[in-house]
Amino acid sequence: MTAPERLDRYMARAVAAYYAARNPFGGAGDFTTAPEISQAFGECLGLWAAVTWEMLGRPDPVLLVELGPGRGTLMQDALRAITEVAAPFRAALRLHLVEASPGLREAQRARLGDAVTWHDDAASLPPGPAILLANEFLDALPIRQFIRRGTGWAERFVQEGAFLEAPAENPPPLPVAAPEGAVQEVSEAGEALIRALAARLVTQGGAALLLDYGPAAGGLGESLQAMRGHAAADPLAPAGSVDLTAHVDFAAMAAAARSAGAAVHGPLPQGIFLQRLGLMSRAAILARSAQLAGKPGQAGLILSGAERLVAPEGMGRLFKALCLCHPALPVPPGFEPA
Ligand code: SAH
Repeated sequence: MTAPERLDRYMARAVAAYYAARNPFGGAGDFTTAPEISQAFGECLGLWAAVTWEMLGRPDPVLLVELGPGRGTLMQDALRAITEVAAPFRAALRLHLVEASPGLREAQRARLGDAVTWHDDAASLPPGPAILLANEFLDALPIRQFIRRGTGWAERFVQEGAFLEAPAENPPPLPVAAPEGAVQEVSEAGEALIRALAARLVTQGGAALLLDYGPAAGGLGESLQAMRGHAAADPLAPAGSVDLTAHVDFAAMAAAARSAGAAVHGPLPQGIFLQRLGLMSRAAILARSAQLAGKPGQAGLILSGAERLVAPEGMGRLFKALCLCHPALPVPPGFEPA
């Protein structure tokens, strides 16, 4: 019998093994993400970064950072848009990617070239003003799960492909009351990352835009999920064989950022945010070019893809956008009060 492994340690190991072993994106893979659905997503985020750079006072050089860039699609689309409409920003930016998977680093190199510095984690990013982007990165960070038992909390562990409960190890602050058996998830890794990012934005300037799925305000409930071949799978399938994610608790992330002194904007439903950035207009232009090129099928896919990103019943409501920034920065694009 192997020793029980705390759920967050198991998840960290399983996620690392998963991304090290496969390229999970797209139709033949396990799941698809916004930048893989529509090029307008990365383009809009690139323009968001360009406007934010202006608001920051055009620092030169400036770090443009992406956390968990996957196949590099978002950044490729962002850089194309930046090159077209914001040449001075393109000249000032230095590209840094935080990516743990060697295979995905190669995929990123194939799309973005060699003028990139890769990092295993955000701690090794150099100092200086920075604009950071992350899509579906926080949901891959490990969570702990606490289960209400009597007047206290037990914690979930994994052993030999099964869950078990044991006394919680140094638990973080947890609700004082909850129904018997209720589950409280906590992403200590996510909160620590957000505190560190917020601290650097406060001392060195910049802004971070995080898009992910999860409720605006967390609470009791279980959200750990596994995906394989675009369908739900067993989270305890052999480590590395399925994609493990959990809902991001945006309220907890915002609180972590504020505790480090950063200003926080959002969370805002992704659909509202992307529409404010002009995603649907961009998709309409792309669809029209496809039509004119005699590709009506492609035009239809462009429009349905964009629609999926913004529609409430698609990814428009469950996914959220959150911005952390230096407190002196004006409200960044898309986060204006309604
Ligand atoms: N942003 C991309 C990919 C999302 S999948 C998209 O939207 O398509 C998650 C990405 O984060 C992958 O690139 C994965 O290798 C990376 N990743 C996950 N956990 C990580 C960790 N702890 N450290 C560094 N990279 C990680």
